[in-house]
Amino acid sequence: MRFLPVFLDLKAGPVLAVGAGEEVRAKLRLLVSAGARIRWFATDGNHDLHGLDSGKIEFAIGDPLAVDLNGVIAVLCAGAGDIGVAMSARARVAGLPVNVMDDLDRSTFIFPAIVDRGDVVVAVGTGGASPVIARRVRERIEAMLPARIGDLAGFIGRFRKSINGRIAALPLRRRFWERVIDGPIGALVLAGRGAEAVQMLTDIADPTEFAGAQGAAEGRVTLVGAGPGDPDLLTVKALRALQDADVVFYDELVSPEILDRARRDASRIPVGRRVGKPGIGQEAINKLMIEAARSGKRTVRLKGGDAFVFGRGGEEVEALRQAGVAYSVVPGITAAVGAAAQFEVPLTFRNEALRITFLTAHKAGDADTVDWSALTDQKMTVVVYMGMTAAPSVRNGLLAAGRSPQTPVGVFARATLPDAQAEVGTLDELPELVERIGRGPAVLVIGDVVAHSAPWFRKNWRHQNFNQVLSKLLEAAE
Ligand code: SAH
Repeated sequence: MRFLPVFLDLKAGPVLAVGAGEEVRAKLRLLVSAGARIRWFATDGNHDLHGLDSGKIEFAIGDPLAVDLNGVIAVLCAGAGDIGVAMSARARVAGLPVNVMDDLDRSTFIFPAIVDRGDVVVAVGTGGASPVIARRVRERIEAMLPARIGDLAGFIGRFRKSINGRIAALPLRRRFWERVIDGPIGALVLAGRGAEAVQMLTDIADPTEFAGAQGAAEGRVTLVGAGPGDPDLLTVKALRALQDADVVFYDELVSPEILDRARRDASRIPVGRRVGKPGIGQEAINKLMIEAARSGKRTVRLKGGDAFVFGRGGEEVEALRQAGVAYSVVPGITAAVGAAAQFEVPLTFRNEALRITFLTAHKAGDADTVDWSALTDQKMTVVVYMGMTAAPSVRNGLLAAGRSPQTPVGVFARATLPDAQAEVGTLDELPELVERIGRGPAVLVIGDVVAHSAPWFRKNWRHQNFNQVLSKLLEAAE
């Protein structure tokens, strides 16, 4: 992040503008509509205001490079020519923010794309890299925000001081306003029924009680599936839970990008196994969650993929139930499904794959206890979680039970992450494929459907030997 979004008070003094043309005028319109006063060197001598508010604009003449910058709060300059270079240098010496249009290097501030809903203003920036992307993001935010969100902010602004004066504790104040916003009062404002909303708010006799102060604040635990890695694969519910959380207990597989979606001031506590280090243990995790919820915290337990697929979510829910702590479960996209989408492997397919088995083979020992004879059905897709180390046992087990050595298999690593990687071949070669992948996490997918990933390999030009892979797979599936 090179540019920090801040909000500038335009009442503090004039903005100095230098330049001419439609682009400059567009910026001036924006500044004026936000309440700025402008001192303008219209370098083409055109003093026609074309609808700009004359009360806000004062024309300056003479040499802009010699002008007194005292009291000026920012400088805006058209990009072309030496004047931009010189103005930028002057502004910097004076310590003033300066924007030279279309010249990122000489600008110390830039204009974001703006969503303007009265008191609610959203600024979207791309560090100057792509205004088109900023606009696209703005469009999506526009579509997401209720039309009267600005009215709601204004409404709260009006009552904030008096209500806050009546609620001593900060967390309670926050809860009070959350109840207002999420409850019927907020709904009235958003429906344009401001007068009724005012009535309802002023009818609240005891704001502390309204905020739920009587009795302990209700903490709860939300078990959230974080999906396979790509933060955009969080569900809307998962995102909401994260943005609502006071504390997040997360596993090692949860990426920093996903943690970034949590509320900024939420505590983030790693509780998973780290490479080479054991975790704190399931008992300890249960205890931490229960304590957090009992102390009134909105607690999120964030797990890779889905909590109920090899995620020990079942045990955690049992512990919460026993402790009498309120909880809910938000599903996530499990690794098998993430990998299937990324590498274009349908886990079921018409008549050729009718069943799926998910199994785990964490250690070689696990693989030894699997009843492989139940997995020899050619119309079954088998997905092995945590199976990299045990790959030789997986192969041996399936072969001994009678599954064909020519069965297509894929090792799909870091699915949905930027460094996703795949190796495909036959069951016979499974251990070598795993070796070529090197770094997990990866799922092993075994079954004819893996041959459907061939088009993915064709598209993925980085894969050197796709022709070989392709013919091998197609052969194997026949
Ligand atoms: N609850 C998780 C699974 C946890 S077990 C889920 O539903 O996905 C951890 C195993 O998940 C890893 O050993 C690996 O087999 C698999 N896994 C997790 N993320 C993965 C990813 N991005 N790509 C491939 N496999 C992944």
